[in-house]
Amino acid sequence: MTAEIIDGKAFAAGLRARIAEQVARLAGDGLVPGLAVVLVGEDPASQVYVRNKARQTREVGMHSVEHRLDAATGQAELLALVAALNADPAIHGILVQLPLPPQIDAAAVIEAIDPGKDVDGFHVINAGRLATGQPALVPCTPLGCLMLLQDRAKAQGGDLSGRRAVVLGRSNIVGKPMAQLLLGANATVTIAHSRTQDLPAVCREADVLVAAVGRAQMVTADYVKPGATVIDVGINRLESSEPGGKGRLVGDVDFAAVREVAGAITPVPGGVGPMTIAVLLANTLTAACRASGRAVPTV
Ligand code: NDP
Repeated sequence: MTAEIIDGKAFAAGLRARIAEQVARLAGDGLVPGLAVVLVGEDPASQVYVRNKARQTREVGMHSVEHRLDAATGQAELLALVAALNADPAIHGILVQLPLPPQIDAAAVIEAIDPGKDVDGFHVINAGRLATGQPALVPCTPLGCLMLLQDRAKAQGGDLSGRRAVVLGRSNIVGKPMAQLLLGANATVTIAHSRTQDLPAVCREADVLVAAVGRAQMVTADYVKPGATVIDVGINRLESSEPGGKGRLVGDVDFAAVREVAGAITPVPGGVGPMTIAVLLANTLTAACRASGRAVPTV
C-alpha cells in the first residue's frame, strides 16, 4: 500500500480563505480582529516565523502589530508591554514568540496574558478549559492536526469516534493538548513518551498516530499499523553533507518507509507546518468574536 498524502499546505490555504471571508463580513459589522506578535531578541528562526505571521495576518484582512524588543529586554519591561496589549481594545490576540532569552521567565509572561487573548492557548486557564471540555483557545499546532484528521475521517465517510489514537510525545504545547483534542473527538487515546515500554508495539495499535518527539525519522515502518493515518509534527534539520550547505528538513517519521505501510500521511515540509499559522489566525478570529459577544463562526 502507498499512503495518500495529506496536503496541509492546501488545507491551510483553504482555511485562510475561509477566515478572510469571515474577517470581511466582520469588517462590514465594524469589527477588525487584531493580532499582536512580540519578539524578544534576534533568533533567526523566530524572526522568520514572526515575519510570516504578520504577513499572513494582513493577508486575511486582520490588523497586525509587531513589537520587536532588544535581546537584553528585562522581565518587567516585557510584562508592561503585555499589560498594555491586554488593555488595548484593538488587539484580540497576543502571541509572545518563544523561546525567550534566559533572563525572562517564560511561564510568568504566558500567565500574564489575558486568557481571552491567549491565541497560542498556552495559558493555564486555557489548558484547564480544554481538559475540562469548556470553550478554550487551543494550541495551534495540535488543533491544526485535529482539523487534518477530521477532514480525512470525513472524506472516508466517518469521524474519529472510537478510533484508537496514539500520541507520541507529551509536551504542553503539542502532545498533551493533542491527546485532549482526540479525547474530545471520542477517540480512545494513549499518550506515549520516552519511558514507554515497547514503543513500536504501542504505536502499532493506533488507527491514528501523531508523532511529536523531535527526533529525526524515529518512527519507522514497524511502528505503524497497516492503513493507519500518520501525522508527523516533527521539524528536524538534517546536517548537509556539503560544507556550508543548508541541510534538509525532515519529520519525526521515516516518510519513505512509513508511506508504504500507512493509509495516509502528512509530509514534512508541507503537512502540519503550514497549519500552525492558519490556526493562529482562526484563534484570533475566535478571540475577537468572543470578546465582542458575537457567535464564533465555523471556518
Ligand atoms: P518536546 O521536546 O517538548 O517533547 C518531546 C516529547 O517526545 C517528550 O514528551 C519526550 O518524552 C518525547 N520523546 C523524546 N524522545 C523520545 C523517545 N526516544 N521515545 C519516546 N518519546 C520520546 O517537543 P515538542 O512537543 O515541543 O515538539 C515535538 C516536535 O514537533 C519537534 O520536532 C518540534 O520541532 C515540532 N513542532 C512543530 C511545530 C509545527 O508547527 N509543525 C510546532 C511545535 C513543535 P519525555 O516527556 O518522556 O521526555
